[in-house]
Amino acid sequence: MVITSVDVFALKHRGKHQGSLRAIICRVNTSDGVYGYGECGLSYGNGAMAGFHMIKELAPLIIGQDPMRNEYLWERMFKDTFWGQAGGAIFYAAMSAIDMALFDIKGKVLNVPAYQLLGGKYRDELRAYASQLQLGWPDDNADGFDLPYTPEEFAKAARLAVDDGYDAIKIDFLSLSRNPMDGKVPLGIMSPKDIQLIADRVKAVREEVGPYVEIILENHSKTDAISATKIGQAVEKYDIMYYEEVCTPLYPPVMTNVARKVNIPIANGERLFTRWGYLPFLENDSIQVIQPDICLCGGMTEAKKICDLAHIFDATVQVHVCGSPITLAASLHLEAAIPNFCIHEHHVINKVMYNRELGKYDYAPVNGKFTVPELPGIGQELSDYAIKNAYCETVK
Ligand code: MG
Repeated sequence: MVITSVDVFALKHRGKHQGSLRAIICRVNTSDGVYGYGECGLSYGNGAMAGFHMIKELAPLIIGQDPMRNEYLWERMFKDTFWGQAGGAIFYAAMSAIDMALFDIKGKVLNVPAYQLLGGKYRDELRAYASQLQLGWPDDNADGFDLPYTPEEFAKAARLAVDDGYDAIKIDFLSLSRNPMDGKVPLGIMSPKDIQLIADRVKAVREEVGPYVEIILENHSKTDAISATKIGQAVEKYDIMYYEEVCTPLYPPVMTNVARKVNIPIANGERLFTRWGYLPFLENDSIQVIQPDICLCGGMTEAKKICDLAHIFDATVQVHVCGSPITLAASLHLEAAIPNFCIHEHHVINKVMYNRELGKYDYAPVNGKFTVPELPGIGQELSDYAIKNAYCETVK
């Protein structure tokens, strides 16, 4: 069996959501007719089509090769492309898509779910948190987001998620205006007024959900280290589970600076790539929760190694999940297998039907808990609807 071609899809959502979240997916095809799906994790931000073309650049390295040799092919993409050892989101997102597809193929060939390729099932249930409630917590069939602004509106979004069965939630409290385009976090030190607004929102959410629902604080790296420290110190009394991307995610000493002064565990990782990207943060203990994204960090092959590396440092794992149903399914397999799993991220974008309908199978949590797909491979593929509406190119 050899790899014969690679299809690359740029997905589209229905209605007004077309273009707002553009997942890039690859399908690796083989001479035996078995195929595997993988996702390139650039569906948000700027860079999706760069990832689309990067997959096309990498495809010739794997065409004609045995798809079961994922370690060998990973190393080829790492060493034989020159830029593999330079890193970056575009390169590693494309490489991750291909690596994920190889796991899907291997599972199908061996007729086992992908978690069996990662060490077997460590747990049956995956506790999930409701993620990014600054977008609200809309009905599954909602056509958009109702953004909270006042402390009371944040508390209401939290209530909706808790009533859905979640005992943990994540919120970015940094919106400084009702219009997000006007409310960008300023460069430099935030004003006492802005920090008080954030603290009031956290307080309102804590009072709404009570003492036993865990709250994750998210900064999306929008604040500098000084502001991140001031925010952290203002809200640590509300018992925060962890504090995510507090400042620039790139340089460990900056994060250490915040970690030393704030009494909340620090999380980081959705913009870090490979073991080499994670090691400096683990070595200097600037992060206690790692957040590798399987469709960005170097794929399933690399994600497992990053999680094992973190285990040495007693760092726990919350996989970053924000993409199509392909990466959602792949993430569940890794989370089911690793010993140092912490919690699954159920992003609001993975809740709404206009994203879920892009998958052939619909995996959703029940009472805030997921189970892992039991189909061979990652147990997910694109729906007919997704394929019909996607822009596709093929490399042979
Ligand atoms: Mg994040």
